[in-house]
Amino acid sequence: EYDVVALGELLIDFTPYGAAEEACFQKNAGGAPANVLAALAKLGKRTGFIGKVGRDRFGEYLAGVLERHGVSSRGVAFSETEHTTLAFVELDEHGERSFVFYRKPGADMTLREDEIEFDMIANANIVHFGSISMTHEPSRSATLKAIRFARSGGALVSFDPNLRPPLWPSLDAARAAMLEAMRLADVVKVSEEELAFLTGTADPESGSSLLYEMFSSALIFVTRGASGCFFRAGDRRGFVPSYPVKPVDTTGAGDAFLGGALFGLLEAESPIGELSADRLRRIAAFGNAAGALATTRRGGIPAMPSHAEVIGLMG
Ligand code: ATP
Repeated sequence: EYDVVALGELLIDFTPYGAAEEACFQKNAGGAPANVLAALAKLGKRTGFIGKVGRDRFGEYLAGVLERHGVSSRGVAFSETEHTTLAFVELDEHGERSFVFYRKPGADMTLREDEIEFDMIANANIVHFGSISMTHEPSRSATLKAIRFARSGGALVSFDPNLRPPLWPSLDAARAAMLEAMRLADVVKVSEEELAFLTGTADPESGSSLLYEMFSSALIFVTRGASGCFFRAGDRRGFVPSYPVKPVDTTGAGDAFLGGALFGLLEAESPIGELSADRLRRIAAFGNAAGALATTRRGGIPAMPSHAEVIGLMG
């Protein structure tokens, strides 16, 4: 039995330290779906990961990181032929991250349908995925198969597009795949940049309205960095401010936000259609607090806050 199962990329982020010319790179576990699970596990939920790494030191390290943070690695497949995916992080003068991927392809892209532990999906209340596993075959078909299976079994499906342009053959291909994925999702989380990419407007009111008309997703979150978020479930909608913190590293903030929001949905124990605007607002506020706290610590998985910390920040 799992509260949340996530499927997608699991990789090494090499994060630079020191002056640009002679930076040292620290090895960190990366991959947005795994970050979301780590957030939920830290909040006390039962979680399991489905994905693929290489049978190498990095792959073994990643499976170990999941387990140490309370996320089951039972669904992790090991490739005998491809190496674990590596991404080098580059920080600009504002601390904004971009990624250089070392893959041809990396193990995560080689996940096949026959390697997916479908029983984990069948026993999950929520199944979460992103778009990075949809950039290449065979993981693209495997992802879509798993998500269709999740839907047919009655799980709530959550999707975060997480746009990484260098991984796609073209931006049009990225947009088309994301829109296809949204058709399968009940809960969608986008940043303002992703909203603009998908709808042509970064305005949360009109952009989310367009998404809602296109997909009638049950619940859409638009994250807005330090400003908080916007939520929409049909006519129930609104802006929800975040909490003041001193950020040191924004890695994983969006994933912590989504982990917090999914935690709130699990605790609510009612279909989204039956939740009041006020209840949705509290769920969004919980996500904001989790996201804010994640920026106060370095890294993704190790930065996830506890329930007590989130409640403490919310006051
Ligand atoms: P990614 O992790 O891919 O950058 P994202 O763009 O969705 O994802 P943000 O919008 O930066 O992430 O952050 C997610 C949420 O975390 C925000 O909606 C907000 O609630 C909270 N948050 C992020 N940065 C801050 C901050 N500086 N102060 C307070 N809250 C923040």
